[in-house]
Amino acid sequence: MIDCIIIGGGIAGASSAYALKQKGLKPLVLEKNTICSGGSYPAGAFLSPKISKPSPYKTYLNDSLKYSLEFYAENFPNLLKKDGLLKLPIDHEDIHKCQTYEPYIDIAFEKQNDNYYFPDAGIIDPVKLIKELLKDIDVIERHEVKNIKHIDNIWHVDKYQAKYLILATGSETLPLNIPYLKTKNIGGYRYDVCFDQYEKLQYNLHKSVSISTYFENKIAIGASHIKGDIDLEKAAKDDSYNLIKQALEIRPLPNLKILKQYTGYRNFSFDYFPILGEAVDAKQTIKKYPYITTGAKVPQEKYTYFTNLYIHKALGSRGFVFAPYNAKLLADLICNQKKIPNHLSPAKRFTKWARKQTL
Ligand SMILES: Cc1cc2nc3c(=O)[nH]c(=O)nc-3n(C[C@H](O)[C@H](O)[C@H](O)COP(=O)(O)OP(=O)(O)OC[C@H]3O[C@@H](n4cnc5c(N)ncnc54)[C@H](O)[C@@H]3O)c2cc1C
Repeated sequence: MIDCIIIGGGIAGASSAYALKQKGLKPLVLEKNTICSGGSYPAGAFLSPKISKPSPYKTYLNDSLKYSLEFYAENFPNLLKKDGLLKLPIDHEDIHKCQTYEPYIDIAFEKQNDNYYFPDAGIIDPVKLIKELLKDIDVIERHEVKNIKHIDNIWHVDKYQAKYLILATGSETLPLNIPYLKTKNIGGYRYDVCFDQYEKLQYNLHKSVSISTYFENKIAIGASHIKGDIDLEKAAKDDSYNLIKQALEIRPLPNLKILKQYTGYRNFSFDYFPILGEAVDAKQTIKKYPYITTGAKVPQEKYTYFTNLYIHKALGSRGFVFAPYNAKLLADLICNQKKIPNHLSPAKRFTKWARKQTL
């Protein structure tokens, strides 16, 4: 008997499935292509901190990073390459900005001239990681979910049934209409390259682009950010010069050869926080509290929620940093009724959306 159906076999779905299995539930992952074929496939996947002024987003990001690094080191030590990361400010203005933010860096670092070295940062292999996360979990590939119904407290997802349902569909449209969860997609590409190695790359480097250390005789260079609906494969081919030029500004890479190009979409919410937690039933909540549309306050606990329906998406540019931490929060919510921080919750998005509706 399956306890929980998860739609999407990227890092969000795989981490959620793993965390729920750790709690003793039996998950089933449904994936329309193959696991790690969506936005997770092209990821670097660099695990690096943010230097900025204090904000809830920065705290959440660095908490996630600390958690994920520990999680990967403990559970998948062979896949984590923890060589550290050297962040090089882009220009004089950036040097000044970083200096201003220095007192707020809450992750171990050493200053090297104007640069910042983070010894705990690293990269992880996205494909191997997702395979490992899902190793002992039921997965059905090449199954695009079309039909979802909730009958007698059970979710019916095509021919599969379970008490809990998690939507982890990345940049794809949600297979249920949840009008207040609008997101945007930003395309990108990156390359695996090799070059004549005169001196060893000691650590990952980040300036306007990132360069990884060597793994399996190649390094990763990434990534671009492309808005609009364009042919990403073509753009990656035509524009390789630009990305490589930015990498060469960081360090020489003699006789560089592009081995492989990767393209894909990142999915963002409009406030850049991932979306995680119980989905509000917008229609029922507005029916119950119509004055919510005029801006009147209704406590979130009083909203009507879809029974046992959860969202885990909009991981932006840092899916591999956020997903394990989010998955832990989600499993704690489902199994131990622990509240999800409000900045991540669908309820927060619903409140904002509801105020703009006219009845
Ligand atoms: C070029 C590039 C570089 C990046 N670099 C980094 C990096 O260095 N570090 C980092 O942390 N992050 C990085 N990211 C971001 C990271 O890859 C994403 O945040 C993350 O992979 C999103 O994971 P996800 O599981 O939400 O989505 P996805 O990986 O897209 O997974 C969603 C899955 O759901 C499936 N699906 C959708 N609809 C259905 C349906 N109806 N039925 C069944 N299956 C369905 C899709 O096929 C897909 O496989 C990068 C992204 C890009 C594009």
